[in-house]
Amino acid sequence: MGYLALMASTESKKEQARAYHRAYRAKHYEKRLAYDRAYRAAHLEQVKATINRWHRAHRENVRINSKRWRDAHKEQHAAANARWKKANPARRLLAEQKRRAAKLASPGGGLSLEQWEAVDAACGGKCAYCLRDDKMTMDHVVPLSRGVAHDVANIVAACISCNASKGNRLVSEWRR
Ligand SMILES: [Zn+2]
Repeated sequence: MGYLALMASTESKKEQARAYHRAYRAKHYEKRLAYDRAYRAAHLEQVKATINRWHRAHRENVRINSKRWRDAHKEQHAAANARWKKANPARRLLAEQKRRAAKLASPGGGLSLEQWEAVDAACGGKCAYCLRDDKMTMDHVVPLSRGVAHDVANIVAACISCNASKGNRLVSEWRR
């Protein structure tokens, strides 16, 4: 066989192999998906740790790629974001306050979802200030802007209207 013929046949063999693998993957897709899911469920912590490690090692790439994806899928991203917020109101509050605290370089360890739920439960699902039964927000009794810690000890559940009206004031300055 001449060189060109050999190359052509090699190429066609490669293409055959690729087609075979594609067909194989398609045929076993559901099975593999189920296997992956089961594996992830059984090794959740391990998988999370691996993903986190990978993200830390590729932080800059991840940032650029995420941004590229978000820019290319703006509506999809906004919809997914809105869906998540609606499904996870408590986590949304936590994330918002964590961002604020980071922006203000607040000291303190922050709080976990369980801690926030405990605070909310301790307030009986009512606003700590007006005792109304409303949609709760997270209020720092001493405002974060005063340089205090973002910490569970400084947090109560407050309704949107009290939280907004109190703003960056101490309770004593607000309720005069
Ligand atoms: Zn209130």
